[in-house]
Amino acid sequence: MSIVNSARDQKHPVDESLNAGSVLPLIYDLSLQQLEKVVAEWGEPAYRARQIWEGIYQHLWSKPEEFTFLPKPLREKLFTWFSFSALAPGMVKSSADRQTIKTLFRLRDGRAIEAVLMLYEHRRTLCISTQAGCAMGCVFCATGQMGFKRNLSSGEIVEQVLYYARQLNLQGEKVSNVVVMGMGEPFHNYQNTLEAIDRLNDAQGFNLGSRRFTISTVGLVPMIRRFAAEKRQINLAVSLHAANDELRSSMLPINRKYPINSLLAACRDYVDQTGRRITFEWALIRNVNDTPEDARQLARLLHGLLCHVNVIPLNPTNRYSGQATTRERAEAFRQILEEAGIPCTIRLRRGIDIQAGCGQLASQAE
Ligand code: SAH
Ligand code: SF4
Repeated sequence: MSIVNSARDQKHPVDESLNAGSVLPLIYDLSLQQLEKVVAEWGEPAYRARQIWEGIYQHLWSKPEEFTFLPKPLREKLFTWFSFSALAPGMVKSSADRQTIKTLFRLRDGRAIEAVLMLYEHRRTLCISTQAGCAMGCVFCATGQMGFKRNLSSGEIVEQVLYYARQLNLQGEKVSNVVVMGMGEPFHNYQNTLEAIDRLNDAQGFNLGSRRFTISTVGLVPMIRRFAAEKRQINLAVSLHAANDELRSSMLPINRKYPINSLLAACRDYVDQTGRRITFEWALIRNVNDTPEDARQLARLLHGLLCHVNVIPLNPTNRYSGQATTRERAEAFRQILEEAGIPCTIRLRRGIDIQAGCGQLASQAE
């Protein structure tokens, strides 16, 4: 059933069109081509679709009265047929230094997700979610601990970015980077995630360049291969956390399905095929994966690969007993990698005081 038909089947008075609880199709779920089709079905000239697109993605409009360059009947029709809001912002938490802002959103079915804005010098980086919950069950992750609820639609992913873009716009600022590192495993919701990025990437719309996006995956090997074949300019990060199968499987259950040798083979092929550097994520957990021997094992594993390692002290969660590493041990870990020729950065634990770790706020809300 087409988007238009499914909309037509529903009764939807105009005054409900902005209601986040409405079941109207979400406008951000549409590509420009799909919007053009809808506009054509309405008997409107094709340029109207582009005007609507620019209104949404360039001007960041979401209310009928904002779409001033549309005739009033068309404006009304647009908002009768489509919802412009599937995310109802709930709790907002700001870190003590006000550099990290986290928003909890209710979806139309009541599920909770979260998205985080991080301010760093001139950068305005968003961390967005792709699923409510996650099926991967990584033991130290608050999202993994809550289990899988559902995939987000491409529009629900897009709207997280538009929400913050509108807020930044009020201060004359823009989103500069998007990291797909919030709740969920993006490669377990591959299609919707990539469609969302394409929509935000569109030069006639939001126009955020591919290189401004980073997708982080737990290591779904077939999807890494698929992503590599698409030869996109989007950055790829892989959550490694352990350099031997026994340890990695105990932390990341998916490792039993895609063990380290198959994962690293896919990563090497990705670098060969795309010429792009890959990032590895490593949450440092005291006495679990933060010893000099862990660092040496990792250095051997990554030898000769065009890559970069981000280490971040674990953000402790309720249902995992592991503790964060110390600053000294993180520094020693970094040094071993650097001496082996592998660039490594110690990342800050941003927003610890506001539970800005992956899924911590939403798992409480659920
Ligand atoms: N599912 C994807 C992306 C979301 S998680 C993935 O796993 O890569 C984003 C990053 O946060 C991953 O590297 C993940 O391992 C890490 N992470 C999850 N819980 C964490 C915690 N409690 N402390 C530190 N890092 C954590
Ligand atoms: Fe899912 Fe990533 Fe959390 Fe693992 S770390 S449970 S893949 S969100």
